[in-house]
Amino acid sequence: MKQTLPVDGKFELMALPYAPEALTPAISAETLGFHHGKHLLTYVNNLNAALPGSGLEGLPLEEVVLKAQGGMLNNAGQTLNHNLYFGQFTAPKADNAPSGRLASAIDEAFGSFDAFKEAFVKAGATLFGSGWAWLSADAEGKLVITQEPNAANPVQRGLRPLLTMDVWEHAYYLDYQNRRPDHLAALWQIIDWDVVAERYED
Ligand code: MN
Repeated sequence: MKQTLPVDGKFELMALPYAPEALTPAISAETLGFHHGKHLLTYVNNLNAALPGSGLEGLPLEEVVLKAQGGMLNNAGQTLNHNLYFGQFTAPKADNAPSGRLASAIDEAFGSFDAFKEAFVKAGATLFGSGWAWLSADAEGKLVITQEPNAANPVQRGLRPLLTMDVWEHAYYLDYQNRRPDHLAALWQIIDWDVVAERYED
């Protein structure tokens, strides 16, 4: 997978590849503002504050997640998780679906795209508390869905993360309140399948 390197000893807040209102109604500009500009910024700042003296200075973020512990691991994991999450969206599209080798791998692993979507939303909806639903590839390119609690990332299981849904309440509460499954279902319109396919081909 692509590596994220620190610049002058610090990880940067990722720039959003779309306008703040571009993901409405799945994610409002207000939610995006808090989620990216406050929550993610805090994780990045806390990670940067923990780097000096940790022995992990200069390593890519993906390796920091494999080597850090405790609070530093939580902040590194949440930085990586959110970079992948915010990087995978685009303006809403009708009939939004993957194509090519990724679409074939989804059919092979889950039976059909619709069956995959159902299984993925179920993974997110049934995750107790805070965490993330993930689609990842194993070493042979086979696709798997996992539920990861809190700040965990599939790289910790040796998997390559491709697509994720954040089910921490801060991801949807302003827009959807308690209706987590409705928020997750709305996210299908804004998935940038080209980005997900690039992650699969990397
Ligand atoms: Mn989040």
